[in-house]
Amino acid sequence: MVYDLIVVGTGAGGSGVANRCAKNGWRVAIVDDEPYGGTCGLRGCDPKKVLVEASRLVDWQRRMNGLGTSGEARIDWPALMAFKKTFTDPVPGSMEKAFHALGIETYHGSGRFTAPDRFVVNDEELEFRHFVVAAGARPAPLDLPGEDHVRTSTDFLELQKLPDRVVFIGAGYIAFEFAHIASRAGARVVMLGRGRPLGQFESDLVNRLVDHTRELNIDVRVNSAVIGVERVDSRFRVRFRSVNGENFVETDLVVHGAGRIPKTVQLDLARAGVDTDSRGAVKVNEWLQSVSNPRVYAAGDAAVSPGAPPLTPVAVHQSLVVSSNLLHGNNERPDYRGISSVVFTTPALAAVGKTEEEARSQGLKVRVKCEDTSRWQSNRRVNETAAMYKTIVDEGTGRILGAHLLGPDAEEVINIFALAIRDNLTASDLSHMIYAFPTHAADIAYMF
Ligand SMILES: Cc1cc2nc3c(=O)[nH]c(=O)nc-3n(C[C@H](O)[C@H](O)[C@H](O)COP(=O)(O)OP(=O)(O)OC[C@H]3O[C@@H](n4cnc5c(N)ncnc54)[C@H](O)[C@@H]3O)c2cc1C
Repeated sequence: MVYDLIVVGTGAGGSGVANRCAKNGWRVAIVDDEPYGGTCGLRGCDPKKVLVEASRLVDWQRRMNGLGTSGEARIDWPALMAFKKTFTDPVPGSMEKAFHALGIETYHGSGRFTAPDRFVVNDEELEFRHFVVAAGARPAPLDLPGEDHVRTSTDFLELQKLPDRVVFIGAGYIAFEFAHIASRAGARVVMLGRGRPLGQFESDLVNRLVDHTRELNIDVRVNSAVIGVERVDSRFRVRFRSVNGENFVETDLVVHGAGRIPKTVQLDLARAGVDTDSRGAVKVNEWLQSVSNPRVYAAGDAAVSPGAPPLTPVAVHQSLVVSSNLLHGNNERPDYRGISSVVFTTPALAAVGKTEEEARSQGLKVRVKCEDTSRWQSNRRVNETAAMYKTIVDEGTGRILGAHLLGPDAEEVINIFALAIRDNLTASDLSHMIYAFPTHAADIAYMF
């Protein structure tokens, strides 16, 4: 039997393509080796945000204690996990039901290519006209002695009990977010990062966030490369190397927060003639089509497309582009302008567009404004001391090239800057906008 389309991956990148093609009368199969729903819905953004919101309540209560509120908010970890499950548990069943309603055939298991037009899953060989690789990402191998003792972000989101001490390997956005959650929930937390933390974010704001994270008693160690993990009775000893030589920390739990790579190794892409980069990401052209096998397209974390960060909205955008190109012939290119990235710490760090360093290294003439906003009324009202912004504006045209926010509601306000960048609005346009007041967004008028 020949499928018009086989999709591997039921996450943000794959499921939309399968649905759209099935609605257009295509014979479609979808395959996943994990419960249906993908990383974002089951093991990433959505469950994480449930924990983030609870940890924010604790933080807010602590900030306002003595300023008109009293008492103590605290995290009840097992109850919070049970609440989180009410979001994740229904996803696989309802998603599979929706696929069946569209006539999509569903396969569970790890699949792999056997030829440029053949895919095997559970010993069954399927033939296809088109294929979409939306296989997502997995934690990058650490290549450390004792790596087996290191738990993944998925394990962290499933913890039935939060231990007293947690070490995060890495200082990227997942490590920061989870460290903030664990700390607000009562754990003593150490972060061991190899290079500059949150490397792709604006360094002035990152420095403030790192200081604030330390003020919360999270031990953030930079330039500290983990070299091994040992089990000592029921504890773990995490060895690391820094400028001060070799050292170790003892902990009850070690969590991997040191980056992810495309989950493509099992797919045997070479058998289908699908070229990949050194990380295993599918090399695609401007239509998100494999550069070496035109039957195959890719979307989401498993594709390498310049300017596309591995985030859910990007995967969704790519899935729309791929669907259109499959159904109507190559006609749509992805547009990655104005994609926001957020670190869901408390407070959040949010960014869109270029950093100052990027703009200057590209030789652009820019107007930069950067201020600590912790004394602005909007932040004082909630007693948030970690608050800052930086805006980067093209001197000639007044167009907004980048915006960076640290503070309450940063993850919401950044969307206004994203819209401005996508629609070529100028700093003057945003300054003259009439904002609802008093809101954090109203502060934008003073950021240029
Ligand atoms: C802890 C965490 C927090 C995150 N938070 C955010 C956030 O706040 N905001 C944001 O925008 N992004 C966030 N992300 C990133 C986001 O989840 C991903 O960018 C997004 O889910 C990618 O979607 P995808 O469709 O490419 O892959 P996925 O959703 O990962 O789906 C791919 C699926 O394909 C399956 N698969 C792979 N290979 C095979 C095979 N050979 N056979 C069968 N099935 C296979 C995988 O098991 C997986 O289920 C987070 C990620 C993590 C891990």
